[in-house]
Amino acid sequence: AVARRPDVDALAAGVLAGDRSMLGRAITLIESRNPAHQRLSAELSLKLFPHSGKAFRIGITGVPGVGKSTFIEAFGCNLIDAGKRVAVLAVDPTSPLTGGSILGDKTRMAQLSVQENAFIRPSPSGGTLGGVTRTTRQTIVACEAAGFDVILVETVGAGQSEVAVSDMTDFFLVLMLPGAGDELQGIKKGVLEMADMLVVNKADADNEIRARQAVVHYRNALHIMQQRSPNWAPPVVMASALHNKGLDEVWAKLSEYRSKLDASGEFQEKRRKQRIKFMWATLQDRLMSDLVNHPSVKEALPTIEHDLHDGRLTVTLAVEKILGLFRGSVSKGSAV
Ligand code: GDP
Repeated sequence: AVARRPDVDALAAGVLAGDRSMLGRAITLIESRNPAHQRLSAELSLKLFPHSGKAFRIGITGVPGVGKSTFIEAFGCNLIDAGKRVAVLAVDPTSPLTGGSILGDKTRMAQLSVQENAFIRPSPSGGTLGGVTRTTRQTIVACEAAGFDVILVETVGAGQSEVAVSDMTDFFLVLMLPGAGDELQGIKKGVLEMADMLVVNKADADNEIRARQAVVHYRNALHIMQQRSPNWAPPVVMASALHNKGLDEVWAKLSEYRSKLDASGEFQEKRRKQRIKFMWATLQDRLMSDLVNHPSVKEALPTIEHDLHDGRLTVTLAVEKILGLFRGSVSKGSAV
């Protein structure tokens, strides 16, 4: 079947009008790996970009079972009650393969997902981290253009996806379990270093004492780490997502962070740095994909690899040969 060409102007208009189904279709286009769709998606992003940038972008992570979806549901509903529009996205390159919880899954956030002012989008399936990162960044832009003012980006995992999320958000929130000492609960030390705030969740009923101990433990742990921002020392707070306790304090801290970093200029500076980093990452991805998909490179690669394998070619010569094939046609192409 011939796929109908998505109408970029109509999509852009729909997104800008805040229409969630058009936003959903725009994101489907953004996530498509079809080259024609990718060109349209670039066109769409160009139209949406000037309308983006106003939201507060918040990354949220924590081990499976810590209460991420419970937290996002309760926190998101609170924000909506306070008049905000909330989008929930997920970065999880492994999602449906692991059989674990699917991040950003609507069924895990039943109350939030029925809210008119919420938009929940699970991670695209089967992508690489680089691919998921690229699409999530463009998805953030689309959500902002659609008028969402808080973007929650959920992630879990191997450390790499946390780095990716902290590179695309303004604030990185790490959820922890009560009970100090159990060797950072599978949360890597690097993740703690990225945290702008730790929230010890499940601070209710029998857990309260252990939650208090955890708070003291993590305050000490953060205290000995080097402070990344001159304007912000990451706080450690307790909450119970299940009972909607402590979530107002979480929001108060977030607001304090935003106003402090806004006032010092650090907020915008962080975003500028993120954009430049993202440009280089995208460029790297694009160049590599252009290179390996280039017809003469593609044709010559098996022979080059074979010769390299058998010692008939050195690595340096192999690289020169591949670049020569790639560049040769690039300059031919540009002369036309
Ligand atoms: P996720 O895997 O990080 O998304 O965790 P979930 O949100 O699915 O929560 C895992 C389990 O912990 C569920 O059974 C929740 O009901 C429970 N849970 C989440 N938050 C709290 C909390 O604040 N207190 C208690 N007691 N249980 C919680």
